[in-house]
Amino acid sequence: MSAVKIKQISDKDVDIVVENFDIAYLNSVRRLSLSEVPVLAIDDVVILENTSPVYDEVLAHRLGMIPLVTPVDRYSLPSECDCNNPSGCPKCRVMIVLDASAGESPRTVYSGELICPEDKDVKPVSDRIPIVKLAPNQKVKVEAYARMGRGKDHAKWQAANIAVLLEAKNGKGMYELKLETNGSYKASTLLTKSIQLLQKQIKTISEAVGEV
Ligand SMILES: [Zn+2]
Repeated sequence: MSAVKIKQISDKDVDIVVENFDIAYLNSVRRLSLSEVPVLAIDDVVILENTSPVYDEVLAHRLGMIPLVTPVDRYSLPSECDCNNPSGCPKCRVMIVLDASAGESPRTVYSGELICPEDKDVKPVSDRIPIVKLAPNQKVKVEAYARMGRGKDHAKWQAANIAVLLEAKNGKGMYELKLETNGSYKASTLLTKSIQLLQKQIKTISEAVGEV
């Protein structure tokens, strides 16, 4: 009989040990957590003002790589949204603004200064990610849009920092699956989402076979 034991769980990571389970399924769950579970990331950046020493493109790239807390099931992938609008709608994109300046002294602008006026639940997973250093009187003002995406399309959309599958130490067909999130979702949500995607894929196959 199959058995699953939770070895460790926190918001950030989950570690389960399973017995008498097909390793192929577990490996699919691992892979899906890295490449298929969609999360929000900044995807479109309009630089309104930038007098910092950092080039616009570099600033845009840095903003894209900041992990964002993603409310569960609130946003759709642009390709799956019913708006059919290339620039998106409130269901498939969310605006994030940054308006930071230095006064008399130089300072570092951190991720905590990114504000999402349309949705309080969307925010950087950490407030302390440095974005740009400003010299006195320099300024950056940015309007950005975050969209859902998948890790297979770009690393910025990868929901899992780490996803490994190991043979448990005592052997005997026991395996250990460890997932660590980038903070967009809780670890338990990431695991559930990965399993749901696997179920969906299997359902698609069985329906296709049923149609034959
Ligand atoms: Zn839409």
